[in-house]
Amino acid sequence: MKKISYTLFYCFLAIGLTAQINSDLANLTATLLGDTPIEEDLQELCDQYGGRVTGTEANAKAVDWGLRKFIDAGVAAQKESFKIASLWVENSTIAEVSGTTNFTPKVVAKYFSKSTPKDGITAPIIDVGYGTPEDFAKAGDAVKGSFVLVENDLCLDVDGLFTEYANAAKADALAAKAGAIGIINMASRPKKLLYRFIASDGYDHGLINLVMGREDAKRCQRILRADGKLDFSATLDVAYSGEQTSHNVIAEIKGYEKPDEVVIIGAHLDSWGLGTGANDNGCNVAMMIDIARQMVKMGVKPRRTIRFALWNGEEQGYFGSQAYTQLHQGELDQHIMKMSVDIGSGAIIGFFTNGRPELAKVTKEVMKPIAGLGANSVLDIPIVGTDNFDFMLEGVGNLVASHKPFNYGQNYHAASDTYDKVDLEQLKRNSAIVAAVALGYANLPDWKVNWQRQSRAEIATEIVEKHNLEFSMRMFGVWKSWVDGSRGRKE
Ligand SMILES: [Zn+2]
Repeated sequence: MKKISYTLFYCFLAIGLTAQINSDLANLTATLLGDTPIEEDLQELCDQYGGRVTGTEANAKAVDWGLRKFIDAGVAAQKESFKIASLWVENSTIAEVSGTTNFTPKVVAKYFSKSTPKDGITAPIIDVGYGTPEDFAKAGDAVKGSFVLVENDLCLDVDGLFTEYANAAKADALAAKAGAIGIINMASRPKKLLYRFIASDGYDHGLINLVMGREDAKRCQRILRADGKLDFSATLDVAYSGEQTSHNVIAEIKGYEKPDEVVIIGAHLDSWGLGTGANDNGCNVAMMIDIARQMVKMGVKPRRTIRFALWNGEEQGYFGSQAYTQLHQGELDQHIMKMSVDIGSGAIIGFFTNGRPELAKVTKEVMKPIAGLGANSVLDIPIVGTDNFDFMLEGVGNLVASHKPFNYGQNYHAASDTYDKVDLEQLKRNSAIVAAVALGYANLPDWKVNWQRQSRAEIATEIVEKHNLEFSMRMFGVWKSWVDGSRGRKE
């Protein structure tokens, strides 16, 4: 009899718990879809602080702003400092085209480009088409000591971005091998819009690397293809700044049952400085703050701790999230899942599960209660290029939100990434989706029976080798640090 009543008691307790979890989830998603300060927050961040390049005053002020937002909402939060050995900065870039015609093109340095000599450098421009091996073979010896002009297709979406990165990585290597002085990348966006891109393999190619306004680059290309001759004169002053201290903002809502087990969701606070970092990634910073704020407001208590991270130094190579994995190394076995939201404000249709099929199954499950919001897909492909990266290399289960393209690719890292490009209505639906998935993971009955932190050997075989990540890791300049062991799990 006693046994039966205990069983009944536990049974009712379980039903009570499930009911509580369900009502928490319903309340939280409803409040996030309602009237919240998310839009005002985003407007403040983008318009008042502007572009937030790590190491600048605007960035430091944005960190304090983020911290204050959490604290004002009653969420425990702190700044966590970390050191960056050095940051690349573009002091100035001036360029002239001369020869068959003379004009001043619009140009911007690529991240990692090297400087020219102080008085500038002048060299012929050689058309190498799209910069394929055949194109370089055709251009032959003329490449040596020249600037190569590399064409890019118009970039209309995220796929276009990855194609551009991948093509540039190949062209960079070929140009370096053929002895070019520098690379002029035709901008992939119209109306002379400029943007900051990463030059692959970092500084190692030793090339001057620029993006030229699309119309200006097309003009050069037409002249060269009509047998004209052009020289390119550039004076490019970039520098490494020396050691910098930067900060992440880490907020948390403690788990009531397993406080040491952590679900961490985050977005990066820093941006490049040409625009004001709205779709990349202010909108999702505002989302993190709003989810935490509404959880506290609604009294939602997760079984496990949920941490909210505003990462810094993401654009230069995910330095902030890397620093977190070092600072919290002793806790990583207990990190159940890490989620990054970094692809703007287009509709979240699901999540990348980054080479962890165990998480694909769970993610599908936790999305079920919010199926009406449109998120139901999982793609088990590892994403390289944002703040999940170091968690992936530390063997921690990680997700990246997958979005329908909306104003993202065409404004990526560009002067046009501003508040007015954000889909504010969708951003609220995305908040509800992210909150539901975070809460779903935090409230799971168990997880270690299904997945655990991977060892270095498992990461190497199951993630890096199985998914052929070498090329994309090289493309983003993070391959060497994995190989030499300065990044990723030690054993
Ligand atoms: Zn981003």
